[in-house]
Amino acid sequence: MAAGAPTIPGRTAWQVLRLPAAEHDFVHTHGELFESSDPATGELVAELAASTPQDVDAAVGVATAATRSAWATDGELRARVLYGFAQALRADRDRLAELLTREQGKTIHEAHIEIAGSAKMTEYYAGLARLVYGRSTVLGAEVTGVVLREPVGVVAVITPWNWPLTLLVRSLAPALAAGNATVVKPASITPAITIEALALLAAQPGLPAGILTCVLGSGGVVGEALVGHDGVDMIAFTGETATGIRVMKRAAEGLRKVALELGGKAPNVVFADANLDKALAGAENAIFTTCGQICTAGSRLLVEDSVHDELVERLAANTNGLRVGDGLDPSSQLGPLASPAQRDKVLEYVERGKAEATLVAGGSLLEGEPYDAGNFVSPAIFADLPADSSLIRDEIFGPVLTVQRFSDEAEAVALANDTEYGLAAGLWTQNLDRAWRVGRAIRAGTIWINTYHHFYDEVEVGGFKRSGIGRQQGLEGLYEFTETKHLNFDGKASLW
Ligand code: NDP
Repeated sequence: MAAGAPTIPGRTAWQVLRLPAAEHDFVHTHGELFESSDPATGELVAELAASTPQDVDAAVGVATAATRSAWATDGELRARVLYGFAQALRADRDRLAELLTREQGKTIHEAHIEIAGSAKMTEYYAGLARLVYGRSTVLGAEVTGVVLREPVGVVAVITPWNWPLTLLVRSLAPALAAGNATVVKPASITPAITIEALALLAAQPGLPAGILTCVLGSGGVVGEALVGHDGVDMIAFTGETATGIRVMKRAAEGLRKVALELGGKAPNVVFADANLDKALAGAENAIFTTCGQICTAGSRLLVEDSVHDELVERLAANTNGLRVGDGLDPSSQLGPLASPAQRDKVLEYVERGKAEATLVAGGSLLEGEPYDAGNFVSPAIFADLPADSSLIRDEIFGPVLTVQRFSDEAEAVALANDTEYGLAAGLWTQNLDRAWRVGRAIRAGTIWINTYHHFYDEVEVGGFKRSGIGRQQGLEGLYEFTETKHLNFDGKASLW
């Protein structure tokens, strides 16, 4: 922190992490150094070594060897290790939350939610680790079929930077619960929080060597090498749609299985008969969580004509009153954007919006102390947009909300579905029939009705259209990481 700079509550001096530390032998890195830095201050958070192609080979090699360990067949061991990991996350939450905020920028309040949620999801899959059942069926007088669920083998888990622990655990925990060996490649913006959390898993007694490995470095080099590696059986990828398509093409060359959780442009539909106070709070939560950097962000607010102007006016007043600041300051409601590149992308869209629509709140780079060294942008709301506006079409992944009007239910559904994405949607109405009809008509994997951004480990999530392939969470999320095998017992003496 610069001398004389104002003191931020919650911010203390930081000891730069040099990673991976000697005891982190699950991390395979012998390449060039790279850094992660604090998006609120620009300070160095961690210095790390990237993986070389030989490191990727080594990680996949030890993972392949580990597929032959007891892990694949010992559900009790898997449950114990995963449960221990969850407890370790909880015990270390204060240190991890601080690191998460320093590296990603999110508010410390949200960082705590992320760590607690990651522990809870890990516990859920710890329970399921002993429930990887197949089934049997009688197929004739003397014939029985037994269907086993077996691990896929070596699973590459590639994660984004916005919820680096939750989105890691959402793939890693079911992959491990199902008995697979894993190679994790975290986003280059958030490697330190990933390694520090994984170190808690690696330290669990009984985890066979090679079941957890990790490689670091750029997606274009290390990620590509991993996705194209012949030893990888499955890729669980969370990230942008364009990257997901690239990953799927590479995976197709080796006919590797993929699970893809990709981008979104969620509609949040407010009917005139909604409880407007709740809809207003829901609209803010939908777009401003993680400063808009969340795949399920309700970034397109669709409002029925008769309440449009009132809602926009109240939304603008509330948005202008939001406290944007250092995520470590407990009073901040929005933190900085996660990187300078993300800040510039958001500002570019804001400039486009100013040229073609009405800016009703925010939309500026925040400057002066304490903002100068960080990536702070005031949350923006646009109304009166042309139908072909890129602000309505593109996933901006920042605190930018567009508001469109509709005059009846049919138009609301048409606007909601007028997107290449289909990850999530919100719906605000007190009319149960309408909630049912519209909820059924919107093509997305999750539809929140009179609420937003509530996730449950028990229920699967995933995308329609260009938002993904496969489902995560719940039992479906576990089965994604299994192969079924039919053992056919035929009691007849002869086949002919
Ligand atoms: P990216 O697609 O840029 O990156 C995701 C991960 O893939 C990173 O680890 C990245 O590495 C790596 N990667 C990049 N290029 C390749 C490649 N060619 N081969 C293999 N791996 C590669 O996404 P972001 O990190 O920017 O995350 C934001 C995106 O993630 C948004 O689109 C968001 O909607 C989506 N997302 C989807 C979720 C869902 O559940 N559907 C949840 C959360 C986010 P590196 O960091 O080094 O570039």
